[in-house]
Amino acid sequence: MAIERGIRNNGTAGAPRTVADARPQVLPATEGWQQKLDEEGRPLLQFASPKRGKPPVHWADLDLEGRVAAVRERGLPAFRAKQLSTHYFTHYTADPAAMTDLPAAGRDELVAELLPPLLTEVRRLTTDNGDTIKFLWKLHDGALVESVLMRYPGRITLCVSSQAGCGMNCPFCATGQAGLTRNMSAAEIVDQVVAANRVLAEGGLGGRKKGDETPDRVGNIVFMGMGEPLANYARLMSAVRTMVAPQPDGLGMSARNITVSTVGLVPAIRKLADEKVPVTFALSLHAPDDTLRNELIPVNSRWKVDEALDAAREYFDKTGRRVSIEYALIKDMNDHAWRADLLAQKLLERGRGWVHVNPIPLNPTPGSIWTASDRDVQNEFVRRLNDAGIPTTLRDTRGKEIDGACGQLAAADA
Ligand code: SAH
Repeated sequence: MAIERGIRNNGTAGAPRTVADARPQVLPATEGWQQKLDEEGRPLLQFASPKRGKPPVHWADLDLEGRVAAVRERGLPAFRAKQLSTHYFTHYTADPAAMTDLPAAGRDELVAELLPPLLTEVRRLTTDNGDTIKFLWKLHDGALVESVLMRYPGRITLCVSSQAGCGMNCPFCATGQAGLTRNMSAAEIVDQVVAANRVLAEGGLGGRKKGDETPDRVGNIVFMGMGEPLANYARLMSAVRTMVAPQPDGLGMSARNITVSTVGLVPAIRKLADEKVPVTFALSLHAPDDTLRNELIPVNSRWKVDEALDAAREYFDKTGRRVSIEYALIKDMNDHAWRADLLAQKLLERGRGWVHVNPIPLNPTPGSIWTASDRDVQNEFVRRLNDAGIPTTLRDTRGKEIDGACGQLAAADA
């Protein structure tokens, strides 16, 4: 039967065969999913952003020199740049009426030109007793993106989008199935954080527990919204640099609190490791064997499991930051005990203490034919990794009821 194709010989040699191993092997193809192919017959991956009108250049796209040049070009002294930055990055405002330290004459035009509106709020959905908000934003050209704001005890996290849509075509992810609309600009990425901080300042996120003294501002960013951040590398890095630049020139965030998650674009991972911005790095592995990963993560046709893991290890070597392996547990597809063992083996081959595993119960997507693993299977998967000495913690899923959880962001305007 096709369902056992190519899997039997992939187990860890000598691994004990448990009852869990006897479970069926479901594959995307056998469930009716067809991988889209490019003209050369390779799995379809969209790396290039389709040509569309570029978003207007915004203050947050510019570096310090660019900002000073922009005010000087308009006949203003350099210190006006600091004032504009303070309004935007410290007070989270782009409203000229609030900028009373700027000369009234020409202020509206100045702000309209330098801080043009980038995101228009289309919809806001709240869940988890007010702890989670999903925003749907419309960009200047009508493209739609989402971000998810979450309160946890002691921290506030924003899950941001880096592209409208995604070109990586992963079958279990709603965004991946919709294709790539376009890259987002650095400012469009940053503006999601500024907008969230504005909502927080207005008291728009509920759920604060008694005694929680966490400041109401975004302290953690995860690039786990729409898009493949490393396929939009230059703009990603520009946005990250602005996020970590001290206020008022940036958002004053800590690089370690910014997580960049990728399907595994190996050359870009290497580049990221060489930037002097030690963000937290997460690799969406989802399978330790190429047979299955080829189907689950089409980019595996370019860079295999071992290459992606080598690049992840290199990231740790160069930055000292422990990397995170994401693993969506999909019933009867990638949740077999032997796969937990093989994953542990592959991680241990590359050393100890450099990695932890973050399994995520699969979130349902529209028309999805797969479902999350059973609880006992999940627990067994986690236990095996932990027993092998790989720190492993199940990810707490947020926003499922509002299609705001991992892999559910489709930015449907309905
Ligand atoms: N493109 C990047 C970041 C976006 S997705 C990446 O793939 O890493 C963030 C995480 O959610 C990834 O690990 C992704 O594989 C996972 N994910 C996608 N669809 C999911 C689903 N339906 N259920 C659970 N996790 C999912």
